[in-house]
Amino acid sequence: MIMLNSLVKDNIKNLLPYKVEEYADIIKLDANENNNAAYLLNKKLGRAIMELEINKYPDSDCTELRDMLAEELNLDTCQIVVGCGSDQLISLIMNAFIGDGDKMLTHIPTFGIYKIAAQIAGGTTIEVPLNEDFSFDLNSFVEAMEKEKPKVIFLTNPNNPTGNIIPKEQITKIVQLSKGIVVVDEAYYEFYGESVIDLVNKYENLIVLRTLSKAYGLAGARVGYGVASKRLTDILYRIKPPYNVASLSQLAAKICLMNKEILHDTVREIVEEREKMIDLLEKIPDLKIFKSHANFVLCKLDDARGVYDYLLDNKVLVRYFGEKGPLANCLRISIGTKEENEQVVGLLKNLM
Ligand SMILES: *Cc1c(COP(=O)(O)O)cnc(C)c1O
Repeated sequence: MIMLNSLVKDNIKNLLPYKVEEYADIIKLDANENNNAAYLLNKKLGRAIMELEINKYPDSDCTELRDMLAEELNLDTCQIVVGCGSDQLISLIMNAFIGDGDKMLTHIPTFGIYKIAAQIAGGTTIEVPLNEDFSFDLNSFVEAMEKEKPKVIFLTNPNNPTGNIIPKEQITKIVQLSKGIVVVDEAYYEFYGESVIDLVNKYENLIVLRTLSKAYGLAGARVGYGVASKRLTDILYRIKPPYNVASLSQLAAKICLMNKEILHDTVREIVEEREKMIDLLEKIPDLKIFKSHANFVLCKLDDARGVYDYLLDNKVLVRYFGEKGPLANCLRISIGTKEENEQVVGLLKNLM
C-alpha cells in the first residue's frame, strides 16, 4: 500500500477540507447571498443559453465581459482579470507572490480563505487584531508591516464577517508604505459605495477584488474580478489557468451587467432592511449588534451555539464561528428578503 499521506506536501499536511453543509428546504442566511435576486434574471439567461455553443471552449480571457467592466470602471480592459469566483484570484495572487516562508499580512477577524490560500502557496499568515469593536487599528497594522515586511497584504473593505470598514485614507497610507502587493477585497462594495479602484492607476502594487457573488446575486456562477495596473495584471495572466471561467458563467455575468438596474433595486432594499434589522436587534437584551456596511450583520450573544441550533431547528441557517478566538459567541446573519428577515427577528425575540 502506498503511504499517500507521506506524499502530501508538508505545508498542506494539516489542512482540512473546506466543508459546507447543504440543507434542503431552509432559509439560507449563512453565505451573504442576495436572496432578493433569486430567479430575477433566469428568463433572460434561459433565452441566451439557447444560443450558446456549449461544445466550444469558452473565451479564455473573458474579453467581452472585461470590455464591459472596463467601460463601466473607466479603465483599460488589460487592467482586469476575471476569475472563477474571486476565490480563484486570491489563489492566483498567493501563487504568484508567496513562496516558501514568505509572509502575508492581514487583519483578524477576516475572510478565512486568505490564510488557507497563503498556506497552500507555502507562506505564513501574520494577523493583526482589529480593535475590540472591530474597527481597524492602523497603528498596529503599520507597526506589523514595518516589523514583518510582508510580500502581500490583504485588506477586506467592508470586512467579512464583521461589517466594519477601513477609511480610504488609511488604505492609501498602507499602499504607500508597502514594499509589497496590497490587495483590497471589495466583495461588499455595492452595499457600501466607497472604493479604492481609482487608485490602481496611481499605485502599481495595488489590486482591488470584486465579485458578482454577493450584490449581483450570481454566487452560483462563480465570477469575480481583479483590477490593477497593467504590470500587475500581466503577472497574474502568466499563471491564470486557460478557460478558467465557464461559458455559461460568462454569459450569466454579461446578462447580469446588462441588467444592473434590476440589481440596484435589490441592493437598495437590502441596505434598508439591514438598517431596520439593526434597529430591531438592538432592542433585544443580551444581544450585542455591530454596525455593518455590508449585506449581513454580526451579533454577539451569550449562547451563540444554542441560538444557532434553535434557528436551525426553525429552518433558518446562519453562520456560527465556534467558541474560540475573537468571534467567540458571534453569529453572522445575512440580510435576506423582507419576509426572511422578519422571521429571524421574530425567532430571536421569542427566545430572549
Ligand atoms: C464571499 C467573499 C469572497 C468570495 O467571492 P467569490 O467571488 O464567490 O469567490 C471573497 N472575499 C470576501 C471577503 C467574501 O466575503
